[in-house]
Amino acid sequence: MKRTVLLAALLLTLAALAGCAGGERDLAFEERYTIDADLDPEGRTMTYTQRAEITNTGSDSAEELWFHLYANMYKGLFQTEDGDVWVSSVTDGAGRPLSYERSQEGVLYRVELGEPLAPGGTAVILFECTVTVPDLESKYGMSPDGDLQLPGFNLLLAVYDENGWDTDPLPEEGDGRYAHTADYDVTVRAPEGYTLACNGDEQSVTALDGVTERRYICRDRRDLVLIACKNYVRRERQVGRTRVLGYFDPAVAGVTEAAMDQVMDAAAFALGYFGGLFGAYPHDTLVVTNAALGTNFAQSMEYSGLITVYFDLEADPTARTHITFHEAAHQWFYGAVGNDENEEPWLDEGFADFAGVLCLEAWGSDWPAWEIAANAAGAEQVKDDKVNLPADEHPVYQWGVYDRGCMCLKELMDAVGREEFLAILGGYCRDHWMGVATTADFLAAIEAGTDGDVEDILAEYIQK
Ligand SMILES: [Zn+2]
Repeated sequence: MKRTVLLAALLLTLAALAGCAGGERDLAFEERYTIDADLDPEGRTMTYTQRAEITNTGSDSAEELWFHLYANMYKGLFQTEDGDVWVSSVTDGAGRPLSYERSQEGVLYRVELGEPLAPGGTAVILFECTVTVPDLESKYGMSPDGDLQLPGFNLLLAVYDENGWDTDPLPEEGDGRYAHTADYDVTVRAPEGYTLACNGDEQSVTALDGVTERRYICRDRRDLVLIACKNYVRRERQVGRTRVLGYFDPAVAGVTEAAMDQVMDAAAFALGYFGGLFGAYPHDTLVVTNAALGTNFAQSMEYSGLITVYFDLEADPTARTHITFHEAAHQWFYGAVGNDENEEPWLDEGFADFAGVLCLEAWGSDWPAWEIAANAAGAEQVKDDKVNLPADEHPVYQWGVYDRGCMCLKELMDAVGREEFLAILGGYCRDHWMGVATTADFLAAIEAGTDGDVEDILAEYIQK
């Protein structure tokens, strides 16, 4: 996703004019969204209405609200230029038009409220949107096999933190998201014959005239993703009160019966293992599906309540189990404990990498995952890199964020003691459960849980 310097400069100017540079005001929000959508996979379109109910839980009034529409961040990756989510109308709850500005190629929207949103009040904003589905490239669109994956097709309130509204342009590295959790009530109609899933709990499936309507409730989700395919094979596992639902397209290379079972077993194991270490998985459903495009392992992805796993015909099957553990770990380090993926991506990627290796050990694998991470972390290009830098500032993103992040936690664990360190990590999760954490929060947890004998490790890895 290339962003021009010119565009960045323009956006900074706009942000300054809008007076959103500082975060001196006490603004906090609860978010509830209702989405009603009609999906036409063959026509490559989806139209939807989104009702956003935003309650001001801070002590200052808000005159404007900023929203992200993260699907549009994939534009630079589209094989064709025809992909877009277009917002055609923004109105208040009474249907009166609201002024809004679209920027960052449709990723960012500033909506002016008709009247200030006072503390305790709720603003209703209605968006009318049209999704034009591109050929799938990376993680968004329709694959040649007919797998449709639509992460982030919806509007999502930007985070207001100590720096003000998060309007930073997206970096070229990393996943680019930053969000609080929200509740979603999603209704989607699609032609008969398609199987759909989203990262929530399916409430109902209703046959209408040639169309099937599905409703999902997604509570405490940090994002929304919809997947659809004609060929899905469904798998199911039960882990405590959580249902692991697999939707796999056997037409995709590598998606064999044995591989599907392997991924389902791994996902179920990970939920139990991480639940014991970091707190019970927070949702009733975890959806697992195949990454729609088989080009490399980086096509695997985490969403809040849904993971995609890359199936590789060539790779050692242990790699697939490992990737499943990594993506499942993001349900804790991204989903339950959120972070700014632009500013401090190590808080989800480094932690998920570390947790994934722990899980692999508990699974009984002798895959040399620590050694692989240590080699990458010690590579000449990154050996002095600090893990907590923004996504764009690492010489080699993968090694600096994933591998050095993983090794930072491993060295802390070795120094503090395994049980003690995992207890600290469990406490960090509890303290920031369904919130947003920073490196400072992690350091505070370490400092409270140790007697100061890890300063050398912290100094090596973390820029204070
Ligand atoms: Zn990851």
